[in-house]
Amino acid sequence: MTNLDIAQAAKRPRLAIQKDGRLTQETVGLLNGCGLTFDTYRTRLLSPCRNFPLAILAARDDDIPGYVANGTADMGIVGRNILLERGDSTRIEEIRGLGFGQCRLVIAVPNDPTVQRVDDLAGRRIATTYPRTVGAFFAARDIPVTIIEIAGGVEIAPALGVAEAIADLTATGSSLLTHDLRTVDEIASSEAVLIAAPAALSDPVRRAIIDRFVLRLNSALAAKRYRYIMMNAPRAALPHIRAIVPGLRMPTIIPLEDPEWVSVHTVLAEDLFWEKIEALRSAGASEILVANIEKLVI
Ligand code: ATP
Ligand code: MG
Repeated sequence: MTNLDIAQAAKRPRLAIQKDGRLTQETVGLLNGCGLTFDTYRTRLLSPCRNFPLAILAARDDDIPGYVANGTADMGIVGRNILLERGDSTRIEEIRGLGFGQCRLVIAVPNDPTVQRVDDLAGRRIATTYPRTVGAFFAARDIPVTIIEIAGGVEIAPALGVAEAIADLTATGSSLLTHDLRTVDEIASSEAVLIAAPAALSDPVRRAIIDRFVLRLNSALAAKRYRYIMMNAPRAALPHIRAIVPGLRMPTIIPLEDPEWVSVHTVLAEDLFWEKIEALRSAGASEILVANIEKLVI
């Protein structure tokens, strides 16, 4: 990167992403899926996108909300759990969830039969990396506990005698199982979210770039949720097929050489996929071809 590139990167709106952690790979994949290419984000703090007027700021995830709130970055991608812990949401706007980085903040205990519900934790110590969120959870229920803040390796705290319970993030629960911990309750669920600074949103030049970026993001995320399907069907089955797959507006109907048959093209949401395919087959559709969609601009 030349000095000119650095100077250029410094002037562009910035998107802060996690430099090296659980969100990094999917964040970079999503940005690439939006057509943004950049390099050196692992070695440089600020990397300009080659083909979009945005610079990528690589940061520790805990610093991202602060960067957005104080204007160091215009946008950020971070776990909602970090925003929750920060508390003050006045200088940060959540634009949308991104469908990855899903996890839950749960309370877990070692195999202690005296603790069945959170109320049973009254008077005990809870080790966590999220003291504010966990403190607020217990305060709201009037359960007096002592919060022990630790920076990492929370699962080991009960075995070390540091606390009787923990509150930690889990995605699959496997780490809790490994440490012989049982979940008692859930405090919050989280996923990666796109955030923006209200100051950037009210600046027309920055806003225009943010809007272009969000349009691309929406298209890349919508594409992931849909499949393009093509099928052949007897013309007589069309009313039934139309009822099953209304499409985004209407399915595309293409006549085939055999006047009794048509080809139907449409888009199906991933979550309804199998249900609809089965219904289409019973309606008479055959040779059903399914394709991934790269972008879906609505
Ligand atoms: P950094 O070095 O950037 O401070 P970190 O070690 O604090 O990183 P990671 O462990 O990389 O953070 O997690 C980043 C985010 O990934 C979490 O804040 C959370 O939103 C999400 N996440 C998804 N699954 C999990 C999980 N099983 N455990 C912890 N975090 C998870
Ligand atoms: Mg962190």
